[in-house]
Amino acid sequence: MKKEIIIAKNSGFCFGVKRAVDMTANHENIKGKTYTLGPLIHNRDVINRLNEQGIKTMENEEIDSLNTEDTIVIRSHGVGPKIIQGIEKSGANVIDATCPFVSNIHKIVKKHYDLGYQIIIVGDKKHPEVIGINGWCDNTAIITKDGSDLDNLSSKVCIVAQTTERLINYEKVVDIVSKKSEELVMFNTICNATKVRQESAYELSKIVDLMIVIGGKNSSNSKKLFEICGANCKNTLFIENSDELPKELIEDEKIKKIGITAGASTPDWVIEGVINKIKNG
Ligand code: SF4
Repeated sequence: MKKEIIIAKNSGFCFGVKRAVDMTANHENIKGKTYTLGPLIHNRDVINRLNEQGIKTMENEEIDSLNTEDTIVIRSHGVGPKIIQGIEKSGANVIDATCPFVSNIHKIVKKHYDLGYQIIIVGDKKHPEVIGINGWCDNTAIITKDGSDLDNLSSKVCIVAQTTERLINYEKVVDIVSKKSEELVMFNTICNATKVRQESAYELSKIVDLMIVIGGKNSSNSKKLFEICGANCKNTLFIENSDELPKELIEDEKIKKIGITAGASTPDWVIEGVINKIKNG
């Protein structure tokens, strides 16, 4: 029996990730050996394709081994100025694919740090985007998830957020800091891409018999989509690609309507692979 497949209105690559993948795959800018600084995105299929093109991953600690023959791609998460200086010293060709929304946070942080503000980042300490942002204030930022650990603030405070942070956490921190500091400037730097993906997935998962979330197992935004959909639809699957589609569920007569969403690091060709497998078995 033919099944109805509905794709969430907002799903798959966000603007910043698409831009980074396009910039990396565009060989006109590339010379010599090519590396990405950390995995370009949290998607194994994309990383495998890049590997096949000879593009390898390098960690921050390895940049000293770069030379003038190499090309290095800075991914959408961005990096701090010390890393940029290290790369410049090596003379390697740089492709800066930092998402413009993240570059904007770097500018805000640098400007306010230079003006004497204490920087607070609402986000995850270990996330590469947050580590990069912290670099723009000499690694002096207070990094918090919910504001419960904020003591001894200086009189001037500037708050920014990791682009994928939840709004509720940002608002909680703003509320706490506004009661403790004399002067506060705040910038809601949360990116809309996450929010619109979550809203579309939420709505779609309410009306389907089976909801499929496609994303890398390490992708936090894909995991979040899985959580959101799972609360509405008991038949929710989290898969990386079409190889992981369970045949018995697809062939189940009771499943008539299938919803599909994908994390911000899932390319169109992986989504299409899943759709084709459902249609053609
Ligand atoms: S989620 Fe938003 S900030 Fe992050 S890369 Fe995508 S567009 Fe840029």
